[in-house]
Amino acid sequence: MIKTDAIIIGAGPCGLSAAIELQNLGLQVILIEKGSIVNSIYRYPTHQTFFSSSMKLSIGNIPFITAKEKPQRNDALVYYRTVAELEQLDIRSGETVLSVEKNDGGFTVTSNKAVYQADYTVVATGYYDQPNRLDAEGAELPHVHHYFKEAHPYFRKHAVVIGGKNSAVDAALELERAGAYVTVVYRGGEYSKSVKPWILPGFESLVNNGKVRMIFEGSVDVITTDTVTVSTPNGQEEIRADVVFAMIGYHPDYEFLGNMGIRLDSVSGCPDYNPDTMETSVDNLYIAGVIAAGNNANSIFIENGRHHGELIAETIKKRLQNKIAE
Ligand code: FAD
Ligand code: NAP
Repeated sequence: MIKTDAIIIGAGPCGLSAAIELQNLGLQVILIEKGSIVNSIYRYPTHQTFFSSSMKLSIGNIPFITAKEKPQRNDALVYYRTVAELEQLDIRSGETVLSVEKNDGGFTVTSNKAVYQADYTVVATGYYDQPNRLDAEGAELPHVHHYFKEAHPYFRKHAVVIGGKNSAVDAALELERAGAYVTVVYRGGEYSKSVKPWILPGFESLVNNGKVRMIFEGSVDVITTDTVTVSTPNGQEEIRADVVFAMIGYHPDYEFLGNMGIRLDSVSGCPDYNPDTMETSVDNLYIAGVIAAGNNANSIFIENGRHHGELIAETIKKRLQNKIAE
């Protein structure tokens, strides 16, 4: 059994930020990360440009300086590694937390490699490992992807992109640039307001010029190895598809959270927590980062989730001060 003051589950930007804040209180903190540090960013499209400026992605008061205002995925990987080094964060990467149990002294946190005892636990596991699934026949075929890396393999291939927000539009743009024949199938009746305003005009002009085909109010019925059948207001249509990118969002690991005793709203997927302290319905069990947004990936980002650690540290500090005063 390894004893520590605090365990942070997940070394994404918000978990790292929370770790720095708790470390600054003088607590001993261990971060447990199932993949690599900032694993979600590592898994972004290879050439992803952030919509945030680098300063809005910075954590722990360590400046994130880039030549261009908006950094690229690789700039962020370098930055967060540098932060982990400078702050000497204890990160156990390649280790998966399996369960968190409350006990009299705090929490027993069990991973696939060790058992820990901690006074405080912060869950910062994000949503990116749980893609939403399509309710359509053939949705699990191997050429149906929920992550987009690079467009190069799809030169002169027929690609169907499903979804209508930033991941779908970004993937469609990159595929078109690489010479793929792209159809976007979106369930909405018009372009989503969530698409970044500096991205949409370029995309719309490709659609207007016939370079990308856009189907609104489309719902996917069947996917085969080379077609996607879509219901539209004008009837059913079969579209050629060598590859399908179902960029339809992600959701938190409900079972993982529920097993810790965190109550979840069945509709929004939001954990029950106090937004002033980030404490859940379980005493001294906190959440940080995008996990607090439940199923709505468009309300919490790194930009605001990076501040959750400050709220948690403030809460713990007050409690420790009250204990001393008693
Ligand atoms: P994550 O970064 O998802 O980190 C969670 C970590 O927990 C992961 O590393 C995961 O491996 C780990 N983990 C999960 N389960 C376990 C377990 N059981 N045991 C151990 N470890 C576990 N946001 C912005 O603010 N600006 C942007 O410009 C921006 N661009 C984006 C571009 C793309 C393509 C995407 C997909 C998202 C973008 N976002 C952006 C959103 C941003 O990535 C997320 O809001 C951010 O990653 C949330 O940080 P987090 O620390 O809460 O979660
Ligand atoms: P998202 O914002 O959750 O969008 C999912 C899209 O899929 C929406 O258009 C949604 O429709 C649609 N959808 C959801 N479930 C569906 C279903 N069952 N069938 C058909 N369509 C379905 O996911 P995302 O675009 O992957 O973005 C995730 C996060 O990453 C967001 O925070 C986003 O801002 C961020 N991101 C940032 C960048 C960037 O910085 N450049 C790029 C990509 C992503 P509705 O529109 O009707 O809801």
